[in-house]
Amino acid sequence: MDLDLGPDVARFRAELREWIAANAPAELAGLADWNIAATAGGYQGRQLAAAAAHAAYQQWQRALRDARLICPQWPEEFGGQGMDAVRMAVLNEEFYQAGVPRVHRGMGESLVGPSVIVHGTPEQRAHFLPRIIDGTDVYCQGFSEPDFGSDLAGVQTRGEVDGDQIVVTGQKIWTSGAARANMMFVLCRTDPAAEKHAGLSYVLIPFNDPAVTYRPVRQMSGAAEFCEDFLDGVRAPLFNVIGGLNNGWRVAMTTLGHERGGRATVQHLGFEREFWELVETARKNGKTSDPVVRQQLAWAYTGVQMMKFSGLRTLATLAEGRQPGPEASVAKLMWSEYHRRLGEIAIGIVGSAAMLRPDGSGYPTTSWQNVFLSSRAGTIYSGTSEIQRNIVAERALGLPKEPRPSAQASQR
Ligand SMILES: Cc1cc2nc3c(=O)[nH]c(=O)nc-3n(C[C@H](O)[C@H](O)[C@H](O)COP(=O)(O)OP(=O)(O)OC[C@H]3O[C@@H](n4cnc5c(N)ncnc54)[C@H](O)[C@@H]3O)c2cc1C
Repeated sequence: MDLDLGPDVARFRAELREWIAANAPAELAGLADWNIAATAGGYQGRQLAAAAAHAAYQQWQRALRDARLICPQWPEEFGGQGMDAVRMAVLNEEFYQAGVPRVHRGMGESLVGPSVIVHGTPEQRAHFLPRIIDGTDVYCQGFSEPDFGSDLAGVQTRGEVDGDQIVVTGQKIWTSGAARANMMFVLCRTDPAAEKHAGLSYVLIPFNDPAVTYRPVRQMSGAAEFCEDFLDGVRAPLFNVIGGLNNGWRVAMTTLGHERGGRATVQHLGFEREFWELVETARKNGKTSDPVVRQQLAWAYTGVQMMKFSGLRTLATLAEGRQPGPEASVAKLMWSEYHRRLGEIAIGIVGSAAMLRPDGSGYPTTSWQNVFLSSRAGTIYSGTSEIQRNIVAERALGLPKEPRPSAQASQR
């Protein structure tokens, strides 16, 4: 991205590039395709996990930690560098271009940490934040329930206070990365008599507790990246309630506000690379002179360019010190709907061979089969396309609100 962000940012970029070149172990970039989406699952997900166990990755992790480049966007007093959104975008881009991993602490870094920073007490910050940075605590998100996804404020999992503890009981579902987590941030109902949004609490519970059981849910891509979880009286100290009892909705809104983070400015890079891979596939399949395929590829190229310029617009907003508003919904809609369609185009280009999975155990898929199957989840998680369209219509365009079911009917 060759946007002039001023001499300070240019200097930051040059220093960072030098630092990466000096500190990234030689074999690191070749260990795996670190730029592959974390949600890739299946074979690619396993490849990433194996590469992360390598000594070179551990060495890189130590170098990043010593340079405060893990959770660098967190304020200095909490272990980060207080990096602003523009520098974060540059950092993501430089790591991407160098083909080295960012060592991201997942939901701990992007969702829990910022919520604890905003709503936690000094004691809670001192306890929970360093454990995220050093990798001791790995979080998964316990928001969705079998009957409550988009309607998050309706969650029914109970949190009951017992002395100086809170006891959490209920069922959560679609929990990404549950198998890697030792902690879960849960939204639970602590005051059933209160109005829907008012009786909720945001609790950090131990996920390796014997009172937790979880089962992987296999997706149609073959991956079993997420789980359903049964919380059967999981105990946590009241200390683990962030933002105070019955104040969980505010904390959850902080969490959801961070869910899409600063990636809007770099995500087109992955789609661009994938696009050229598809052009290569079309060449190999003798399809590049097919007028329909050419039209489809032109559509895809245009989509990638639109994402690129929309990312630049977000970056410009951030550079002016403003937070992106409903454009985050536009970006989410754009990439998720684009990617679904691209998967369909790719399968058409591969042709009848796309109907055959490769041999091997563990439900392997080719990369295009994986794009076709797993991209369908993109229009559901982090807010479905319908929810995003409503946000754009109502908050950006000022259109009349869509009629909602009565509060009583949706309370169930
Ligand atoms: C890959 C993946 C990973 C996920 N990871 C996690 C995770 O780690 N933790 C977690 O807690 N959850 C996770 N989820 C769950 C996700 O947040 C929910 O699936 C999502 O919020 C939608 O909820 P739902 O599935 O209950 O569908 P519902 O909310 O029941 O929606 C069903 C349909 O109704 C539409 N709809 C609902 N409400 C409205 C409305 N007000 N206006 C218009 N249309 C509406 C929806 O768009 C959808 O088409 C994940 C989901 C996926 C696919």
